[in-house]
Amino acid sequence: MTTKAKLKKLSENFKGELIFPEDDQYDKARQLWNGLYDKYPAGIARCGKPSDVVTAVNFVRENEVAFSVRGGGHDYAGNSVCDDGLVIDLSPMNKVEVDLKTKTAVVQGGATVGEFDAAAQKHGLATTTGTVSTIGIGGLTLGGGSGYLSRRYGMTLDNVISVEIVTADGRQILASEEENADLFWAIRGGGGNFGIVTSFKFQLHDVGPEVLSFQAYFPHGKSREVLQFYREFMAKASDELQCYAFFLNVPAVEPFPKEYHGKTTCALIACHFGDPEKGKAELEPLQKFGDPFLKFLQPMEYTSQQKSFDAGVPKGLRWFTKAHYLSEVSDTTIDILEEYTQQLPGAFTMTYLEPMGGAVNRIKNSATAFPHRDKAYSLHILPGWSDVEKDEENISWAKEFHKTIQKEAAGGVYVNLMSHDEKERVKAAYGENYNRLVKVKKKWDSNNLFKGNHNIKP
Ligand SMILES: Cc1cc2nc3c(=O)[nH]c(=O)nc-3n(C[C@H](O)[C@H](O)[C@H](O)COP(=O)(O)OP(=O)(O)OC[C@H]3O[C@@H](n4cnc5c(N)ncnc54)[C@H](O)[C@@H]3O)c2cc1C
Repeated sequence: MTTKAKLKKLSENFKGELIFPEDDQYDKARQLWNGLYDKYPAGIARCGKPSDVVTAVNFVRENEVAFSVRGGGHDYAGNSVCDDGLVIDLSPMNKVEVDLKTKTAVVQGGATVGEFDAAAQKHGLATTTGTVSTIGIGGLTLGGGSGYLSRRYGMTLDNVISVEIVTADGRQILASEEENADLFWAIRGGGGNFGIVTSFKFQLHDVGPEVLSFQAYFPHGKSREVLQFYREFMAKASDELQCYAFFLNVPAVEPFPKEYHGKTTCALIACHFGDPEKGKAELEPLQKFGDPFLKFLQPMEYTSQQKSFDAGVPKGLRWFTKAHYLSEVSDTTIDILEEYTQQLPGAFTMTYLEPMGGAVNRIKNSATAFPHRDKAYSLHILPGWSDVEKDEENISWAKEFHKTIQKEAAGGVYVNLMSHDEKERVKAAYGENYNRLVKVKKKWDSNNLFKGNHNIKP
């Protein structure tokens, strides 16, 4: 029987929305954030509630139908949509319920960072999420989750209290430190390998609503001094401060000065979310450093800070990804960064350093499945372009850059920053926790039903 014929059977008892290639919504529904992937699923099952997820999981297992799981659709590797199979799409499951008494939130598996932030910030609360509001909480949390708050409150996964998850056998169960603790350990870093999370319960913290936002943009020629200053500055930074170092093309918009439009800049983008006076004092060296062509320090709503990169990463462009962890920003690293970013190949191409440290480093690598807590920085090489003809130029730039800087890397890679062609790096992504993950996988998904991901083979 063809997949199409099998899917007709699903429509008999699936209570969510089913979208087929002949439907008007199909093209929009199959689109991912990363336009490099253009896949044509046989059907898309939009789940409105956990029982829809159970029906879909039982259906794909019993009928041996290939499938993918989609949360926010921002997977760099394009794994959340498949060709010819069924997409189990969680995007309608985006409710966020905040409990003020316990300062916790229950967030459904298809919610985005922006939806979570908005609901929690109504009460001056938040937890660590990513730095772009459109990414999904599902993929983000299961792989790790780093952002402005991670040095203070740990990664997104460190703030998970429990999950409701549909396992390979179609059961909907709870996993926490007390119940199904092995599964709870594995889903915090093991990605989508163990089931479909229908909701996460998160610990929240008092954040904002205003934070102190700082940005400074320097000519590329100054990047060596900027990065030398940056590594010293971050070595002393408090947990309440996060500062990224970016290489990107200056957008051709105000307030960027015209003479820099389209040129590469080295930028420091920081956020302090503690006491504003302390923040100003801590940011003073940044304020005083060098001669940026654009700089500002201002209070900003946390939700705006969380959206400040959104315009730089538009949906539908072509993106490729390469990443490393670093244990320091060495002089050689600075040399290589400077060399490869002199001319960025795509209009939206960027490369950035994200400091780890603080609360992320204080937790043991074995406490959750996320194994890279002892690293100092995450380095992300991210070309973004629109013209298909430029695929080769952008992808080979990233690969060569990545290979050249490898000798300075600390080993391992953040699973959420991997590309589709990095199967040989999967073990490195799960690092010292890989063997334990295999054991948990054998127990909960011995037939490897959930394999459309950076896969842990049972
Ligand atoms: C523009 C952009 C900015 C980013 N910024 C950050 C950042 O600041 N910090 C950071 O840590 N990461 C960041 N990332 C990486 C991000 O964490 C991953 O891309 C993540 O996978 C996105 O989650 P998603 O739900 O949108 O992905 P999707 O593409 O929907 O899903 C990816 C995979 O995750 C699994 N999955 C998703 N939801 C569920 C669920 N509910 N249950 C089970 N499995 C599920 C599935 O295996 C799926 O194939 C960024 C990515 C992009 C594209």
